[in-house]
Amino acid sequence: MTTKLLQFVNSKKEMPKKRIGTLRLKDFNEIYNEFHENEAKKQSSRCSQCGVPFCQVHCPLHNNIPDWLKLATEARFKEAYEISNSTNNFPEICGSICPQDRLCEGNCVIEKGFESVTIGRVEKHITDTAWKKGWIKPIKPLKDINQSVGIIGAGPAGLAAGEQLRKKGYQVEIYDKYDRPGGLLIYGIPNFKLEKYAVERRTKLLKKSGIIFHTNFEVGKTKSFKFLKKKHDALLIATGVYKARELDISYNRVPEIIPALDFLISSNKKGLGDLVPEFDSGHLNAMNKDVVVIGGGDTAMDCVRTAVRQKANSVTCLYRRNKENMPGSMREVSHAEEEGIDFSWLSVPIKLYKKNGRISLEVANVFLDKLDSSGRQIPKIQLNKTYKLKADIVIKALGFNPEPLPKLFNYPDLKVTKWGTIKINYKSMMTDQDGIFAAGDIVRGASLVVWAIKDGRDAAEGIEKYLYDKRKNLKKGINY
Ligand code: FAD
Ligand code: SF4
Ligand code: SF4
Repeated sequence: MTTKLLQFVNSKKEMPKKRIGTLRLKDFNEIYNEFHENEAKKQSSRCSQCGVPFCQVHCPLHNNIPDWLKLATEARFKEAYEISNSTNNFPEICGSICPQDRLCEGNCVIEKGFESVTIGRVEKHITDTAWKKGWIKPIKPLKDINQSVGIIGAGPAGLAAGEQLRKKGYQVEIYDKYDRPGGLLIYGIPNFKLEKYAVERRTKLLKKSGIIFHTNFEVGKTKSFKFLKKKHDALLIATGVYKARELDISYNRVPEIIPALDFLISSNKKGLGDLVPEFDSGHLNAMNKDVVVIGGGDTAMDCVRTAVRQKANSVTCLYRRNKENMPGSMREVSHAEEEGIDFSWLSVPIKLYKKNGRISLEVANVFLDKLDSSGRQIPKIQLNKTYKLKADIVIKALGFNPEPLPKLFNYPDLKVTKWGTIKINYKSMMTDQDGIFAAGDIVRGASLVVWAIKDGRDAAEGIEKYLYDKRKNLKKGINY
């Protein structure tokens, strides 16, 4: 039986049930249960099939949301999967971790007074169903093309580009300095937001599709960038941004003051069953410790939520603005609140030092002053209003900047912007170096998985055009 659409008046927006805070702190598993098929159908049926679907406009991939919602309503999940998969390489991953409140769902135009359609979780249900039913198969290109593309970085940008190029028949090799592919999907984002099996089954599929992965391969160290340039017909740089931003106070560096990614990577590796000496020695382990996390973005939320799961004594998040002005997703903040995190809004550390084996923090209150040029209130530190905190570890989660790639790659011709991101032509995704393309965070700065996928797909199109022209010109006898 088909379910009618436009049911938003009769049925409420619902997410899959969340495990309660105290229960979910016992493990690192996903906090949401899965939608049952009937629940996914019911939520899809709330869609009003807008003539101008703003959900689609505001999805970076312009996913054909109304169509797959209609098909899901009618339980036509295979067709829904095919449509969803045609614009997104990893729909189940985006369905779990996109900040939908700022993208598709935040722009769903169901009449005022009714909550948006639950787009992300239906998107995940559709592709999870496809995995369960065995509809997802390795790529078999119609023909193999004798040109190769080297991709530096196996994060979502590199993987999406690799998949698109392999579909067209190109020979794809992906190089990554880590021991597992996935980039921040595998080592940055914690398991309770994105379960690692979901990333690993994707990379396995790409291997079975003929993509060659070179892990523990750091370009610039294992082999030079020039070596890869010579080896491949085109190169894509998708190395992400990893240089942790620093606190703007001076302090003595001690091992107990930790960059966020060191903490998250060791926790993710431990969860994947690796031996992690820095974790086992207690250095990167929050167990029985008082933890202070400085920052207010999604990375800070991932750190505080990881620390409570590691059974910290106490976890405090210091942020210089208030809750309404936090840069991260409100959904993540409310998860952290449910899990018992103590937030100190409008607070900035002004002194940080180690005394008697612990870290002492002097924290100043902040008031929010006039708006700056971006429309955000400027935080003003009140040096006469301070308080003290003690911690065993302090985690710095203040965001990331690009590393100096031209230097690391010993390739000074690679042009970067004043922020250190790689300069490209946005139409072709090519740098000003012939045959060298770039995509993802290394181009746009720290961003989102869905934008990395979009960039990876755009870069694959640019590379395909470039390689096609190269083949044509070779036939005409024009040599590069
Ligand atoms: P990355 O995922 O960073 O991958 C780059 C890869 O390049 C890495 O595997 C790295 O090892 C490799 N590499 C770097 N240098 C070299 C070299 N010299 N040689 C070989 N390999 C190299 N986004 C969301 O949408 N939702 C979220 O919930 C979310 N949570 C996040 C949580 C954390 C803690 C962090 C840090 C980020 C989060 N993001 C989230 C952002 C998202 O993960 C990134 O925007 C996205 O992963 C960028 O993809 P990318 O492919 O450009 O780079
Ligand atoms: Fe929404 Fe992200 Fe899916 Fe687009 S990819 S529909 S923004 S969840
Ligand atoms: Fe359906 Fe909302 Fe998209 Fe309209 S904006 S098509 S109601 S999901």
